[in-house]
Amino acid sequence: MSSFTIHGLPVSPGIAIGYVHLVSHALLEVSHYRIPDKHLDAEVARLDDALATVQGELMGLKTAAAQQHREVGAFVDLQLMMLADPLLGSEARQLVRGKKCNAEWALVQRMNVLIEQFEKIEDPYLRERQADVVQVVERLVKVLLGHPGHLPPKRRDGMGSVIVAHDLSPTDTISFRDHNIAGFVTDIGGPTSHTAIVARSLLLPAVVGLYHIRMLVEEDELVIIDGTRGVVIINPEERLVEEYQLRRRELEIERTRLQRLKETEPRTLDGERIELLANIEGSKDIASVRAANADGIGLFRTEFLFIGRDVLPDEDEQFETYRSVLKAFAPKPVTIRTFDVGADKMLNAMHQKHPGANPALGLRAVRYALAEPQMFLVQLRALLRASVHGKLRIMVPMLAHVAEIEQCLQLIARAKEELQAEKHRFDAQVEVGGMIEVPAAALSLGMFLRRLSFLSIGTNDLIQYTLAVDRADESVVHLYDPLHPAVLKLISSTIQAGARVGMPVSVCGEMAGDPAYTALLLGMGLRNFSMHPGQILEIKQGVLHADLNDLVPKVQRILKMDEQGKVREAVARLMG
Ligand code: PEP
Ligand code: MG
Repeated sequence: MSSFTIHGLPVSPGIAIGYVHLVSHALLEVSHYRIPDKHLDAEVARLDDALATVQGELMGLKTAAAQQHREVGAFVDLQLMMLADPLLGSEARQLVRGKKCNAEWALVQRMNVLIEQFEKIEDPYLRERQADVVQVVERLVKVLLGHPGHLPPKRRDGMGSVIVAHDLSPTDTISFRDHNIAGFVTDIGGPTSHTAIVARSLLLPAVVGLYHIRMLVEEDELVIIDGTRGVVIINPEERLVEEYQLRRRELEIERTRLQRLKETEPRTLDGERIELLANIEGSKDIASVRAANADGIGLFRTEFLFIGRDVLPDEDEQFETYRSVLKAFAPKPVTIRTFDVGADKMLNAMHQKHPGANPALGLRAVRYALAEPQMFLVQLRALLRASVHGKLRIMVPMLAHVAEIEQCLQLIARAKEELQAEKHRFDAQVEVGGMIEVPAAALSLGMFLRRLSFLSIGTNDLIQYTLAVDRADESVVHLYDPLHPAVLKLISSTIQAGARVGMPVSVCGEMAGDPAYTALLLGMGLRNFSMHPGQILEIKQGVLHADLNDLVPKVQRILKMDEQGKVREAVARLMG
């Protein structure tokens, strides 16, 4: 096995050394692995759970269809019959026990046998029923993949696994948290896709945009990922492994060194106190925010409570989550963003209900919330009920129209009325803010300043929409440029407009956590930065070295430049 190196997009820094585990979501390419003897019972139980879950799903569908669509009821009956057929379930069980196949692999093998049998049937109607077999197996595999069983079992040698996939969803990536996953590489994706954002928040080295990586590696091959430089080395020589182990240790030492800044107040050299807040995806992130000693939460991406689920969290479940985060940080502010689903964060139901050709330009974020007011109201009620447990700030994503702001405020008022009538307690003064992530919003700030209490600039989307570059598409990633003069003007004018009227403005996009932009943003007047907790101490280091008297005039000059190359050089000089 010869060693070779490929280059992709570095999206999450650090070094991972581990063994390849191939993962795919395509049904016919589900991962294939052998189950160790002692885990066979658990794997059969996984399969049985999936069979039971899908049976429940189909029964639910049947009940829902019973009144209006009798023909749907008939086809669900057929799928229920296939699900119960021993040729599928029992035979798959045999394959797990006898051949030690993982559950997904066993099901796909059985599906292929059954398809072959259907192919032989002469009656065209019956022959077509093979599509139902495929659909039933798809449902089963989806359930299995939704549970981290598709992740490799922990290795005995203590080494981590490196996930190699065509693409990964943000929810897949979150599920890596509790497994021994060293890092991941994918064929597609961009640095500000939500998958990349989750990887950084889990400190998982990752390289994306590798095009055909799955074709080039095999299960269990040793690989090194350099997530800082975007390099993947397959079958590295011993000498290289040692070199990268050394580099990994150096990075750990650097991280430990930064720990010394934990208790230091983030003040610039000229004494300005800068607020360093954390971005989180759920209550599991509480510990890492505490470890970074953040000033509070600047962005809680609540959509991660919703995606990947067939049954959405109800008001009580949401209330418990919001309450736990608010309590953990009280009296520090906790900014909870209402769900930003759509684009690369689709709800299970959205694929069927709201398909769109350009999801990033479609029914996303506040647009989706206003199209599903009942779902939105449930979240608003849960948030308001939780507001008595800490300092809540409600933030709405992707606003662009005055009608959207007003409708949100009306729904919040309605939620308050309902809660009052039901004698629930809530903070009547809870602040409501909006995200500036569409150029139209940044160019018409007056309507935001008049109606809201704070603003947060979502640079990830602001860049995507200003430059018309899909943030998750690796083929246009070279055009995704935070330093484009148009982007800088929109960011800086938003910060300035807030300062003029005394409204707090933060940046919660990835720019805030990138040390290359700290001096630039400080020089623009930014005082509130929100980023994933792992970046806070590094950004604090930048703040401690910054002198605003020196930076402000230099940044003013940069803002007058209209050539990207010149801007880039000048920003690099700012950082010394
Ligand atoms: C942003 O767009 O910058 C942002 C913070 O929101 P998200 O990355 O979740 O779209
Ligand atoms: Mg956004």
